[in-house]
Amino acid sequence: MDTAYYTAAGPEQRASLLCAPKHRVAAGGRTRSPSFAARASLKSSGARASIPKQWYNLVADLPVKPPPQLHPQTHQPLVPSDLSPLFPDELIRQELTEERFVDIPEEVIDVYELWRPTPLIRAKRLEKLLGTPAKIYYKYEGTSPAGSHKANTAVPQAWYNAAAGVRSVVTETGAGQWGSALSFASSLFGLNCEVWQVRASFDQKPYRRLMMETWGATVHPSPSEATAAGRAILAADPSSPGSLGMAISEAVEVAATSADTKYCLGSVLNHVLLHQTVIGEECLEQLAALGEAPPDVVIGCTGGGSNFGGLAFPFIREKLAGRMSPEFRAVEPAACPTLTKGVYAYDFGDTAGLTPLMKMHTLGHGFVPDPIHAGGLRYHGMAPLISHVYELGFMEAIAIQQTECFQAALQFARTEGIIPAPEPTHAIAAAIREALECKKTGEEKIILMAMCGHGHFDLASYEMYLRGDMVDLSHPAEKLEASLAAVPKI
Ligand SMILES: *Cc1c(COP(=O)(O)O)cnc(C)c1O
Repeated sequence: MDTAYYTAAGPEQRASLLCAPKHRVAAGGRTRSPSFAARASLKSSGARASIPKQWYNLVADLPVKPPPQLHPQTHQPLVPSDLSPLFPDELIRQELTEERFVDIPEEVIDVYELWRPTPLIRAKRLEKLLGTPAKIYYKYEGTSPAGSHKANTAVPQAWYNAAAGVRSVVTETGAGQWGSALSFASSLFGLNCEVWQVRASFDQKPYRRLMMETWGATVHPSPSEATAAGRAILAADPSSPGSLGMAISEAVEVAATSADTKYCLGSVLNHVLLHQTVIGEECLEQLAALGEAPPDVVIGCTGGGSNFGGLAFPFIREKLAGRMSPEFRAVEPAACPTLTKGVYAYDFGDTAGLTPLMKMHTLGHGFVPDPIHAGGLRYHGMAPLISHVYELGFMEAIAIQQTECFQAALQFARTEGIIPAPEPTHAIAAAIREALECKKTGEEKIILMAMCGHGHFDLASYEMYLRGDMVDLSHPAEKLEASLAAVPKI
């Protein structure tokens, strides 16, 4: 094996990969210079210290607080009891709190230790391929058991529900990542888990479903006959491919009508973004331990906004405090351009209008995005907190077509080895654009990117791209106009 490596890379190159001290990453990050054994012991002794003890709530530091969520019928600001049918008390408290830090329970840290701290890796071989003077770092969340950052919030959500005596949790899943993460977390705490998986993904990704079933969950395709919301959609369109908005309606309906069942959401909500800040907190520590300067630009893909917010929010705190000045760039699919083409308005989080009204960037709760490969980015809305931060001018957003994203994914896979999920290919494509811009200007920027999951269950999408069958999709203007017209007037 070693010989093959030498032949492929050349001994000098290999030596430089192993030894260059400035490429070393702090405990828990990827460390290349110590031997493997030393690395393993470093991880077991140092890892715990690097898992944050608290989640960070950006709301505490914002100069203007985000607008309140509203009751779906009365349009009055939500009070905690409005959310009681859906969530346990502690998660409701976290959803509404303005306190700066929230302690992470010991039991949750114990589970985080299965894969946290996650590696912060410098994409040296990708930099070389691009010929850029920029440094590209990626924080890789694909090491969790379910393969993405979603486990960072699935574990505390399952834990708080179990601690409150809840027996079952229900949820939706688009690409299958969130459903897998919650199935995994539920299995650890003895909760039943029921998942509505968007029909298009249920049909395309049988292995995601089997993963959920292996962890003990029950999976329904959505829309389903099991709920009133699902039956109404099927009556109007028996061959509906489903959408996240529809699947949320089904799961919320079941939670709201069963006593011992609560609902979990994998993105969008404040408490979800709060839990994801473990990513950014760890990353700040890892960059400092490396002796690396703060990033010039922080990039992440956005579906509902949780992996981007999780990485970016601690860095936004540092910027607001005057300690660094990165730019923040969200990347969305051209076929579901919520931040770049949506309106900022109160809208429902689901198709049937069962959720609270949230002020957010939205394409309209009835918008059914084309079935692009990045299923996790097919959501009509955007986290209210991300939308608010965007309105305040603290971040920017761009939209990229899927073929450019998959081209970037192949460059990444062939240099860094990791096969990305279709969602973070958007972040990779944007990081490559930035690195190529640096090549023109000669700027040695530090680019930090959220690499939120692996694509081992998404190889059918890679097959389409490799065969040359993948096409770019864009949202027809009439379809968008119609769904925007249905946004409630508040
Ligand atoms: C769910 C998911 C997304 C989109 O959700 P965000 O809340 O925007 O992070 C992106 N990437 C992966 C791998 C996902 O599982």
